[in-house]
Amino acid sequence: MIDIKQFDEIKKTSARSFNDQKALIKKIMAGRVIPCDSCGTTIKLVLPEQSETPGLYCDKGCTDIALDFTL
Ligand SMILES: [Zn+2]
Repeated sequence: MIDIKQFDEIKKTSARSFNDQKALIKKIMAGRVIPCDSCGTTIKLVLPEQSETPGLYCDKGCTDIALDFTL
């Protein structure tokens, strides 16, 4: 499991506030199923080993939170 401290460098490019993003990440990493605010599809955590652009993404792309992982 990735330690939550490794998400301290979250990019602030999203419309969501930094604290909202951190709260969302914590919920998803805890195994909660969180639907996208816009389209209702499940938001997925993409890890660095899965993609070159890790972050949180919904199926339709309206939730797009890029993360800087420091592994
Ligand atoms: Zn969406």
